[in-house]
Amino acid sequence: MEDCIFCKIIKKEIPATILYEDDEIIAFKDINPAAPIHILVIPKKHIPSLVELEKEDELLIGKIYTIINKLAEAQGVKESGYRVIVNCGKDAGQEVGHLHFHLLAGAKFGDKIV
Ligand code: AMP
Ligand code: ZN
Repeated sequence: MEDCIFCKIIKKEIPATILYEDDEIIAFKDINPAAPIHILVIPKKHIPSLVELEKEDELLIGKIYTIINKLAEAQGVKESGYRVIVNCGKDAGQEVGHLHFHLLAGAKFGDKIV
């Protein structure tokens, strides 16, 4: 947890372009954007990945989706659409061990997996 890069962003120990913050959730621009709009929405609680979710986190995850929707509206893509991705574990290519939701928008995404 001490060397978690996203916990460091939460603690303002490393910089990020923060677009939303409350006591439970923070959203910031991805440093290496894969789309014109690429925002990471994360819980402040250090949850390593989706598989570590606990019963008590259920409301928090619901709230994250509400924030994602608000961010999409603020970015002007609520109508045009957006994609939300959570990579979980090594087969999915998860690189940062702090649960994060990718909000991607501003382009038409072609290669759907599901
Ligand atoms: P994932 O592969 O799902 O674990 O995604 C990790 C994401 O975190 C990648 O899209 C990275 O570009 C992004 N990332 C890593 N370090 C930072 C950082 N310091 N600030 C913003 N985004 C970051
Ligand atoms: Zn963390």
